[in-house]
Amino acid sequence: MLDIRPTKIVAVGRNYLAHIQELGHDVPTEPLIFLKPPSAVVGDGDEVIYPEATHNLHHEAELAVVIGKRCHAAAEGEALDCVAGYTCANDVTARDLQEKDDQWTRAKGFDTFCPLGPRIVPGLDPGNVAVICRVNGEVRQEGHTSDMLFSVPRLIVHISAVMTLEPDDVILTGTPPGVSAVARGDAMEVEIEGIGILHNRVA
Ligand code: MG
Repeated sequence: MLDIRPTKIVAVGRNYLAHIQELGHDVPTEPLIFLKPPSAVVGDGDEVIYPEATHNLHHEAELAVVIGKRCHAAAEGEALDCVAGYTCANDVTARDLQEKDDQWTRAKGFDTFCPLGPRIVPGLDPGNVAVICRVNGEVRQEGHTSDMLFSVPRLIVHISAVMTLEPDDVILTGTPPGVSAVARGDAMEVEIEGIGILHNRVA
């Protein structure tokens, strides 16, 4: 488990055009943000629990930004100064509940729905890394952060204008195309260039 205690996890929906198209949504004109609870966080090697309430559990490989210093109403040119580093995230989602509920708290908020790890890497260029997800060794998602609609600095500007970001808070920057269902027993891997591989089995 990473040695962080986030007060909040701010996630961004619909930040890659090809993922928006695969789910049939409109392209947002500003970042679409939602919260995942800190109680959802697990580490590299931990199990993701498949809840009874869903029948369509999906992986979402994402670059995660870990905040290093308090940040309120950041200017775009200084936004990256508040970043401690970057890690891999899996924004685990109950897709059927996401479609059923008017908002995503339940679909995205179950315990174990936010694997993070395996380590925090400072100094990465967040706009220039490959993001890959494998299930049982098979590539399901293959994207690149240069395809984000809203860059990491723009996300920090947008989010910090709403809520003060505290050290250890985490931003999930959205998922590239290829999201798909997993079953109990499946091995999920999120790999990000320059960071490493986050492994979690579905239990
Ligand atoms: Mg996501």
